[in-house]
Amino acid sequence: MRQTTSSAEGTQHGWGGRGLEAIGGLYRVQVDEVGEIEASLRGRLKHAARAVDRVVTGDVVMVSNTSSSGSWTIDKVQARDSRLVRAAPGGQRPKVVVANVDHVMVVLSVFQPAFDFRSADRFLVLGEACGIPSVIILNKMDLPGASAVAEKVLRTYEKIGYAVLSTSAQTGEGVERLKALLKGSVSALVGPSGVGKSSIMNTVCPKLNLRTGPVSRRGGRGRHTTVGVCLLPLTTGGWVADTPGFSDVSLWGVESRELSGAFPEFREPSERCRFRGCTHSHEPDCAVLAAVEVGEIRKERYKSYRVLLEDN
Ligand code: GDP
Ligand code: ZN
Repeated sequence: MRQTTSSAEGTQHGWGGRGLEAIGGLYRVQVDEVGEIEASLRGRLKHAARAVDRVVTGDVVMVSNTSSSGSWTIDKVQARDSRLVRAAPGGQRPKVVVANVDHVMVVLSVFQPAFDFRSADRFLVLGEACGIPSVIILNKMDLPGASAVAEKVLRTYEKIGYAVLSTSAQTGEGVERLKALLKGSVSALVGPSGVGKSSIMNTVCPKLNLRTGPVSRRGGRGRHTTVGVCLLPLTTGGWVADTPGFSDVSLWGVESRELSGAFPEFREPSERCRFRGCTHSHEPDCAVLAAVEVGEIRKERYKSYRVLLEDN
């Protein structure tokens, strides 16, 4: 969308865009009807906000270029609908990693590496704590014995309300459904390394041409070598956030109350616990523990909860 505005600085042509990546002090922005550009922050924006998190990957921005110099500036950042956050190194305050994420795709494999409930739940908690819906992508369905694992995963998660999509980058299983999910929205791809995130994305959108393989393949990719997060535009419309740092996600001191709220099936029973602020670990008359006893809450999920509770 192009807008023309008049201000003290003269007439400017503004466009809407999407922040793809921060490179030093510059931002790579995908601009409707223009393409990819590099822009700096307008001075006013630079000073207004705190130095960190000023513009992040995924931000919807307004950019303009001055006809005199031809350089682009980001004039405005729209309020964020959602934020994917992670602990800053050294346990400082949480850092916004990607903005305006519509859903978190938690990618896991049935084998190689074997499906791990602890790992799955850690990523699901991340999405819940950020208020972003998650979808489980269960990859490598072509491997022998996969359907037994898939059945167990489905039984655990569909009841809670998570969609589970079985895929294979090798046979193409589930790829059309995945494409439909990704189309027109911003998805953050998270999951342990080696589960096939890059492979499955290459199957969805061959143009991405992401490096795949078992060993240190994060070295170079596309035009930039990056350790930061970047948004990859899909040919079908929409973006996928490539989040290298999220293969080993650490939570950021989520409070125990908040942690229990990040397990959707705990919410209803936890209202019946005798104590407010019950951590569902040792307290008498804990309705969550009772729900685990009778099998309403699955043991695997409760185990994950306890591991995360002790981690924090
Ligand atoms: P990432 O670290 O999650 O991005 O994983 P990669 O995409 O690099 O894949 C890791 C390894 O798993 C590579 O050797 C891939 O060839 C292999 N792989 C990925 N997807 C599949 C799949 O659906 N089936 C099988 N059998 N192997 C896969
Ligand atoms: Zn309780």
